[in-house]
Amino acid sequence: MPVSDEFADAAAFVAALVGDRAGGWDLDGLIPEPLLRELGATGQLCAGVATEYGGPGWSSLAGGEFTAHVGSLCSSLRSVMTSQGMTAWTIERLGTTAQCRAYLPRLTSGELAAVGFSELEAGSDLSAIRTTIRSEGDTLVVDGHKVWVTAAHYADLLVVFGRYGEGAAAVVIPADTPGVRVRRVADPMGCRAAGHAEVTLQGVRIPADQLLGGDGTSLPLLVTTALAYGRISVAWGCVGILRACLAAVASHATARHQFGVPLASHQLVARHVAELYIAEQTATRACEHASRCWDDGTPDMVSATVLAKHVSAVQAARGAAIAVQVMASAGARDGHVVARAYRDAKLMEIIEGSNEMCELMLAQHALAPMGAS
Ligand code: FAD
Repeated sequence: MPVSDEFADAAAFVAALVGDRAGGWDLDGLIPEPLLRELGATGQLCAGVATEYGGPGWSSLAGGEFTAHVGSLCSSLRSVMTSQGMTAWTIERLGTTAQCRAYLPRLTSGELAAVGFSELEAGSDLSAIRTTIRSEGDTLVVDGHKVWVTAAHYADLLVVFGRYGEGAAAVVIPADTPGVRVRRVADPMGCRAAGHAEVTLQGVRIPADQLLGGDGTSLPLLVTTALAYGRISVAWGCVGILRACLAAVASHATARHQFGVPLASHQLVARHVAELYIAEQTATRACEHASRCWDDGTPDMVSATVLAKHVSAVQAARGAAIAVQVMASAGARDGHVVARAYRDAKLMEIIEGSNEMCELMLAQHALAPMGAS
């Protein structure tokens, strides 16, 4: 089946699964787990995984458009999808063929996964990670405390980053391993149903073959590898937020009348509609460019991804605020699509490299031709 047909089927399937329930999930702070597993079993939570491992094997561009579609329906579900995709990507990049064979089919058949880097003292500065992974014969022992791990509440598998020997590594830990404790973050501001949790690891013992990377791998290299996927996925998710806002605003501004004419006939409101459209188009173009770099494997892939993430997050936060302004009281209820977008989009400016961290990376990229290190 061509990707476009497969994409249409997948888009219709996920739209039917979500229906009009995203607002309710946001209020409840939970997505029904059977639904996540049903979607996971189609492989669509990590659509880049190759068909030999049960995934659809989509390009970054096709997967990105699908991520935007899911993001337009429910940012919490898109967040779970980002975590699943980031886990798969990390295993593909850092794992051996045997590890890919062991784990990727699980991620495309209904098991759920999450990735933990952040710690209380290691947010933007991941060089401060204190989690340790040490070898004891054929066993690895992991100790640490991860915070704000998206989807950890639902996860069967956790990929955890830590210090290992002189360098760093990641480990795959089944969430039911003795010594693992997962506690949900109470009342997150946005993406409320994404299952954010803190994860405590106390003397967690796992077989040595669950180590990814290792042998003196540098921590920045490990983290950058995993974050690259998170960034492109979040960027496309922001496009989805903008599309949902634009649809809500266009419909409301034409249907609602004030001063005897549709809202959209007031030029100041029309300007807001234009701003939202510009935001959606700008973010879409930045994401398309980055995804083409992924698909072509160009050296610009890293900077294009950071750029797409920054542009999309900033546009989504601004666009969602505009959408709330145009909807006014009609959108000012918890659970309404623009109210959700407003809270969800703000968080996109913090995660996978905050605006400031992205700006520092982009400045470095812009200065590189001048010989700056
Ligand atoms: P800090 O690092 O304390 O930064 C605070 C502020 O200072 C920010 O504005 C930052 O940009 C700015 N700042 C910091 N250093 C600099 C600098 N050098 N120059 C300029 N400005 C600077 N982590 C995971 O491991 N896995 C996940 O799945 C995950 N999901 C998340 C989901 C949500 C909704 C949230 C809120 C967080 C999630 N995180 C996750 C954690 C996330 O990665 C961190 O919150 C993020 O890296 C920022 O770290 P911090 O919150 O500690 O902020």
